[in-house]
Amino acid sequence: MENEKQPDDFTGTIKFVPPLHKQRYQFIKDLVIKYKPKKVADLGCADCTLLRMLKFYKCIEVLAGLDIRENVMKEKMHTLSPLPGDYLQPSERSLTVTLYHGSIAHEDPCMLGFDLVTCIELIEHLEATELEKFPKVVFGFMAPAMVVISTPNSEFNPLLPGVTLFRHSDHKFEWDRAQFQSWAVEAATRYDYTVEFTGLGTPPPGTEDVGFCTQIGVFRRKYPKNGETVSSEKPTEHAYKTAVYPSLKDEKYLQNAVVSEVIFGAEIMKQRLLGNFKSEDMEHSDGLQMQLKFQPFKYFLMCSKNHSPVEAEKLATDRSMEPFIDGNTVYIPLTKIFSIPKVNQLCGTIEKLSKLIDGKVALSNDGSAVIVTIEYEDEEQEN
Ligand code: SAH
Repeated sequence: MENEKQPDDFTGTIKFVPPLHKQRYQFIKDLVIKYKPKKVADLGCADCTLLRMLKFYKCIEVLAGLDIRENVMKEKMHTLSPLPGDYLQPSERSLTVTLYHGSIAHEDPCMLGFDLVTCIELIEHLEATELEKFPKVVFGFMAPAMVVISTPNSEFNPLLPGVTLFRHSDHKFEWDRAQFQSWAVEAATRYDYTVEFTGLGTPPPGTEDVGFCTQIGVFRRKYPKNGETVSSEKPTEHAYKTAVYPSLKDEKYLQNAVVSEVIFGAEIMKQRLLGNFKSEDMEHSDGLQMQLKFQPFKYFLMCSKNHSPVEAEKLATDRSMEPFIDGNTVYIPLTKIFSIPKVNQLCGTIEKLSKLIDGKVALSNDGSAVIVTIEYEDEEQEN
């Protein structure tokens, strides 16, 4: 089954711009921007269109989709996987997207711990027995801070050409505003939620009394839950597909990012020290660029004489933590590396920087400076 695109697809006098299904997704996106939920579940997610849109919102760390029809989710689920760019530049937040195959009529622990639960054009597809269980499962068991339910408003149907009974052949019912609102208020009262009604798709002039084409209930839990319920970390047997996005919260991605910033930063400092630096060489790190612009280096050029490693390291400490050259080696104190804004932001402490680059970047014996070798290529070629 396709996701619900009616009544935008009806040919007739009524045309919603943007199409109504897009307006419904926009409604959810606006709520996400406003309330910044961390964990969002879309029940009856069908081909995952909404999930695909929501994965770009930085506040969201856990996204889940549930649908009773496996084949619908399957078709487009690859579009929820991380893209190559996500690996090249891991995000600061963590994001896990999981699709579950199952019914909303079951209390599954994997559905616990969400802040926002969306049910877009779902309830009218439920069998009577499922609809009966819905409030207990969603408001009683899942009990998220916010639930959004959208469903067709049957009062609008006479304005839709070609609609005789229901808007879609799989609909088990369609409610007018009074029916939806009394069902919603009863569920909200029983499970300690407030509910506000709104809608999308305004009727044409002269027919305003039929109300919105899509009716929406926004439910908010009245009281904070005692002890937030946490969803089970392990994917349950119903988990159909889980995509874990690369994140800087994962030590291995953080290490890659830090090492690459450090190597780049050290190279720039080396070039600068050698007098080779040109501002157009720096395309990589804005932070570093700023730093170089506003805090010109004071260098200790000691090219004339080679020191023993011990002497050189002592000099590194003595020379007020500035980079210096000894023979064909450039010593860049970690404090200098740590002052690169991006490195500073990624590591937080110099100890963490030291730990992350250990074994990945050449360091002086005491670990207090990054060392970079100068290769005098031109001279060698001439000789
Ligand atoms: N939310 C989507 C799809 C709406 S169609 C959109 O906005 O376009 C309704 C979806 O609910 C279908 O994909 C259907 O398979 C699913 N569905 C029906 N009964 C269900 C149940 N008991 N549990 C979970 N999903 C169900």
